[in-house]
Amino acid sequence: MDFDLPSEEDPRRLEVRGWLADHPGPSGRQLAEAGLVAPHWPRPWGLDADPVHQLIIDDELRRAGVSRPSNQIGIGWAGPTLVYAGTQAQKDRYLFPLLAAEEIWCQLFSEPGAGSDLANLSTRAVRDGDEWVVNGQKIWTSMAQISQFGILIARTDPDVDKHQGISYFICPMDTPGIEVRPITEMTGSALFNEVFLTDVRLPAENLVGQLNQGWGLAKVTLGNERVSLSGGGALWGLGPTGADLIDLVRRRGGLDDPHLRQRVAALHIHEEILRLIRLRTVTAAIRGEAPGPEASIRKVLADEHGQAVMALAHDLCGADGLMTDGRPMGDDPGMWHYGWLFSQALTIGGGTGDVQRNIVAERVLGLPHDLDVEVGQTWSQARRATPA
Ligand SMILES: Cc1cc2nc3c(=O)[nH]c(=O)nc-3n(C[C@H](O)[C@H](O)[C@H](O)COP(=O)(O)OP(=O)(O)OC[C@H]3O[C@@H](n4cnc5c(N)ncnc54)[C@H](O)[C@@H]3O)c2cc1C
Repeated sequence: MDFDLPSEEDPRRLEVRGWLADHPGPSGRQLAEAGLVAPHWPRPWGLDADPVHQLIIDDELRRAGVSRPSNQIGIGWAGPTLVYAGTQAQKDRYLFPLLAAEEIWCQLFSEPGAGSDLANLSTRAVRDGDEWVVNGQKIWTSMAQISQFGILIARTDPDVDKHQGISYFICPMDTPGIEVRPITEMTGSALFNEVFLTDVRLPAENLVGQLNQGWGLAKVTLGNERVSLSGGGALWGLGPTGADLIDLVRRRGGLDDPHLRQRVAALHIHEEILRLIRLRTVTAAIRGEAPGPEASIRKVLADEHGQAVMALAHDLCGADGLMTDGRPMGDDPGMWHYGWLFSQALTIGGGTGDVQRNIVAERVLGLPHDLDVEVGQTWSQARRATPA
């Protein structure tokens, strides 16, 4: 953790400040065309920014009170995959509207029989002339009901190993044959959906990358991470932080109950550990070192920390915690109640806590490979069947 952000007079700072002075209250499109939405992307969509340059831009936008356009899956996952493997025509068509959040994207990956074991997916895409005909079902598709496009993975060759024979497509969500059914969650809102695909015809040019090489691209999609110093909220970077909760407790005169006081102290300690892990990741990036195991370790810790923040808030609200009218992230106690309900999802989405622990066990601690247990199989049968 041995870095300082460059001085106030750094030319890269002055350039961002100059641009902001010329573009007060910039639109999403203006930010996108200036390369400020994803500065680490190559030009013309980004600025080829190294980690320090990214942190400077974040700092200047924050100081100016400028928020970037919100299109989490588009900017976070779909865009980097198109930058990496898309054709020039795909890049020209999709990247700027995606960066400007003029077109929202969703991720059609998980299926009822393929979540943690995503390579098990059974949605099929069959070539018919200049089109692909897609049939299958996706589930837990966040924001499908408001998205213009989805990144879709489907099986294009069922006769090879399950990691082969998967291809990656761009799927316009208004294509005939797509039915989106929102799933009402226990929060009362409907963030994600079931998506049924029946004889959905996608133009051949919507294939991304090479035929049958979609599994490698899905890993590019899921592995993309921007360098950021921001602490982020307790709910996958959104919402209040543990520090916000501790501030609230302080403002309300502290706590007498020794058990609750201990939980507040533990929260503070965990928040500090997460901050140090984040700084370590940023330091490594600045030194040009490859990302280490910190991402998986941090996900396990951050998700459980988010749940602890919300559980403590919920307990501190007492009976008031139940007095919510379903407002998402409104004033407390409604905000904390919504957060407590939503926080149950943290250890499931984006790779469950168990799966992240497997990654840490195998890649960091060098423990033997996880057992591939089939339904109905005993543990010792699985041990014999799983390659070492
Ligand atoms: C809020 C939210 C948003 C989501 N958004 C999207 C989205 O936009 N697009 C999308 O495609 N998906 C999305 N998902 C789906 C998410 O990625 C999957 O839920 C996740 O991969 C887990 O898959 P699953 O639900 O099928 O559970 P399973 O994989 O069936 O797991 C069930 C249980 O078994 C455990 N388990 C499974 N395999 C192992 C193993 N090898 N070792 C130890 N334990 C294991 C798991 O930890 C879990 O406890 C979202 C999920 C959530 C919660």
